[in-house]
Amino acid sequence: MDLGIEGKWALVCAASKGLGKGCAAALVREGVNVVITARGDEALQATAAELRALNPKVSVQALAGDITTLEGRAAALAACPQVDILVNNAGGPPPGDFRDWDREAWIKAVDANMLTPIELMKATVDKMAERGFGRVVNITSGAVKAPIDVLGLSNGARSGLTGFVAGLARQSKLAAANVTINNLLPGVFDTDRVRNTSMGAAAKLGKTVEEVLAQRRATIPAQRFGTADEFGAFCAFMCSAHAAYLTGQNILLDGGAYPGTF
Ligand code: NAD
Repeated sequence: MDLGIEGKWALVCAASKGLGKGCAAALVREGVNVVITARGDEALQATAAELRALNPKVSVQALAGDITTLEGRAAALAACPQVDILVNNAGGPPPGDFRDWDREAWIKAVDANMLTPIELMKATVDKMAERGFGRVVNITSGAVKAPIDVLGLSNGARSGLTGFVAGLARQSKLAAANVTINNLLPGVFDTDRVRNTSMGAAAKLGKTVEEVLAQRRATIPAQRFGTADEFGAFCAFMCSAHAAYLTGQNILLDGGAYPGTF
């Protein structure tokens, strides 16, 4: 299927690894020019080289910076000639117990996982509407639908973003101008983040990381973790010309892990 987005420009945040990289790769394969960001320049440049090799016809620009800061966002926006597609992503907050979190911990989580995507949408969606095309995909988490006890900072901050997006996506100024805004909710995907968080659990339980990962896989009906490639392919479809009637939705990709009917 031709997704109908060849030649568009996408800003894909936090994309040197994991899910962001999967989204950038899928868009590049579709002929979309991308600006990718991440904090560390080395991994980012290596990813940019991989993306260029996937499709030499597109422009791939890599910009190191912290997307959760004002300067990081300004630089990312300046590097993208026009943002037709915006994939919002950043690192997730650390696990813990809410009794230990102070105001600073909450502000950091809300800044990264709620206010940063809102600021980037504020900077881009009205211009998308003027051009008659725009796609925003916010990478959030399955924790928005089914909270994960130790990820209270994520449950809270991302739910705030989800509530905001539900309202914004339904503004006629955007929806009637072919600008869609949706959230893509990962269940468990095989990325560095999942390996890192499993290391903590393994140390606590006196198990190996592989044992912890196997236990987690066994709880998923698909009996496996998702891959960044399949996450990216789904994201690219949400950004496609064919997905123009999908807006304000929360799409859960979790191999059947969420146990509810709706
Ligand atoms: P990852 O650790 O594999 O990759 C994170 C990427 O984000 C890296 O490229 C890193 O450099 C970049 N990054 C982190 N903080 C940044 C910042 N402030 N500015 C710019 N770049 C930044 O993580 P992932 O598994 O791909 O997760 C991506 C997002 O999805 C996270 O918010 C995570 O909490 C969420 N999530 C992931 C899963 C999963 O199973 N992988 C599940 C639910 C939610």
